[in-house]
Amino acid sequence: MKDLDPAAATGRIRWTADEARKVMELPFMELLYLAQSVHRQNFDPNRIQLSRLLSIKTGGCPEDCSYCSQSARHGSGLSASKLLEVERVIAEAKKAKEAGATRYCMGAAWRSPKERDMDAVIAMVEGVKALGMETCMTLGMLDAGQARRLKDAGLDYYNHNVDTSESHYSSVVTTRSYADRLDTLAVVRGSGIKVCSGGILGLGEEQQDRVEMLVTLANLPEPPDSVPINMLIAIPGTPLEGAAPVDPIDFVRTIALARIMMPQSHVRLSAGRTGMSDEMQALCFFAGANSIFMGDTLLTAANPSEGRDMQLLARLGMQPMAAWEHAPEAPAEDAPAAPRPRSRKDMPVPILR
Ligand code: SF4
Repeated sequence: MKDLDPAAATGRIRWTADEARKVMELPFMELLYLAQSVHRQNFDPNRIQLSRLLSIKTGGCPEDCSYCSQSARHGSGLSASKLLEVERVIAEAKKAKEAGATRYCMGAAWRSPKERDMDAVIAMVEGVKALGMETCMTLGMLDAGQARRLKDAGLDYYNHNVDTSESHYSSVVTTRSYADRLDTLAVVRGSGIKVCSGGILGLGEEQQDRVEMLVTLANLPEPPDSVPINMLIAIPGTPLEGAAPVDPIDFVRTIALARIMMPQSHVRLSAGRTGMSDEMQALCFFAGANSIFMGDTLLTAANPSEGRDMQLLARLGMQPMAAWEHAPEAPAEDAPAAPRPRSRKDMPVPILR
């Protein structure tokens, strides 16, 4: 992966950590103005993508991600279950579609899928796809053959988060490496499945780690199509149960930086919304988040109820996106231009050069 210079290959700007850090540290109002301007150039700011996430195989995971209740190594008290039946998954997806979700995400607590599980997983993708929904799966590490089978079945997205910066990663997970993560992302991208990859704030990282995580994502050969940004839900029995809460302003800054660095990606305000006020969520949407998970459970954690989300979106005048609604290839002609920095010295924002 290191052989390919993404900037040379795609004409995109390659971010450095210094450049990204300077943007992250802009005065808050400048940062939000810039993020909202970039957002408007690429998306309708009043539209939001709605996904639903189902745990198709819960608990008993051999990995040791220190934030996760599903690791068999932690004492969260969660019992392991078997892979759900295909019919049940498709029935749940149908309900989600009727409630307005356009993308159905299916997650399994595995290090990687076993061959014996692949037929069922493939049938789930085909069944959900036949409902006219976008399909997403998160099953752990994939090899090229598995990715090809998923692609052939119609899988649209594969989620595989980098979680945090490379330098902080080994403080969070020891059973696999950051390079393993990037290898799976390359396999997914190589198969033609769209990449969904982001991270979690609240893992004991510094603001610099958040910057570096976004630099990693933005500098991939193609930025992820979908970038989930999660706020840690500190779960009793996990090593991070006592983690310090994330400063809400720092969280919004991270969303804004993700939007500026990955202007055409869906930035998803993911786990942790139960701990956010309506006002904080609105600020995240203003900073460029344009996707959420709906439904009152996210894998094993709580999420705001559908009714509450619909109320919030109505209060904000936001409308759900249609399935497969994405950023246009080129910014809309009538979109307002992104603001110019007052001086390059003050705001060295690569995207504005
Ligand atoms: S985050 Fe995923 S890989 Fe890590 S322990 Fe939880 S289920 Fe396993």
